[in-house]
Amino acid sequence: MADCPMYLTTGVCRRGKHCTQNHNRPTISPTLLFSKMYQRLDKSTPGIDAEGNPIDPNQIQEHFEDFYKDIFKKLSKYGEIRCLHVCDNLAYHMAGNVYVQFCDEKQAKAAFKGLQGMLDNNGRPIRVHYSPVTNFYQATCGLFEKHRCERGFKCDLLHVKKIRHTLMRKLYSRYNQSRSRSPSFRRDRERSHERGDLRDRDRVRHEMRYERMSRRSRYRRSRSRSRSPSYRRYSRERSHERGVQRSSIERDRDRERHERRS
Ligand SMILES: [Zn+2]
Ligand SMILES: [Zn+2]
Repeated sequence: MADCPMYLTTGVCRRGKHCTQNHNRPTISPTLLFSKMYQRLDKSTPGIDAEGNPIDPNQIQEHFEDFYKDIFKKLSKYGEIRCLHVCDNLAYHMAGNVYVQFCDEKQAKAAFKGLQGMLDNNGRPIRVHYSPVTNFYQATCGLFEKHRCERGFKCDLLHVKKIRHTLMRKLYSRYNQSRSRSPSFRRDRERSHERGDLRDRDRVRHEMRYERMSRRSRYRRSRSRSRSPSYRRYSRERSHERGVQRSSIERDRDRERHERRS
């Protein structure tokens, strides 16, 4: 039996147990999926409560961000969070699903062991398992991010619920200080950077670095460096080297020409 592409991409499949293809749940992964963990205020229709009355959008956002802060705090005890995504999808198999990706599998394993079967803030047992999703760029619906997804309930890709930028910075900036980076992590980050797939944590780190640079004034920095005695010595030596190389090439060329002529 072939592997279910939807399950591989998003870690869930609308056909569930009735799917004719394989749902191979990994035995270890840096990503954990908490099923139906976020209980939203507007359960059936966006912006509308159970009695059919509209809810203030600010109230919805605050309710969500309180949840996000809480779960971020809980999870960060186990390791460095690469990204934490909560599904905004309303389809049964996706509603309220929470994905967390840690920097490595050990951290995910610690969180899995620590939280499996525990009670959440609503007194319900936490259901968690390892997820095959490691590439959230593929798993996420790009059209939803641009407010253009028309598939709504039927969309099988993740509609990631957004937190405010200030909160994102507050939560993820803590990782800016850490210096130890494994080569595989760096490689991964560079690759994802090329694709434009900045993870939340990396996005914040990237922004902060840029701000620091502009504060110091990049222009002045480059000028002062070019004027330093050591730099002048360096550039003189470099140009000398280049000059030597060029002249030796030219010498060879001259000799060739000369030999051809004679
Ligand atoms: Zn399937
Ligand atoms: Zn979509």
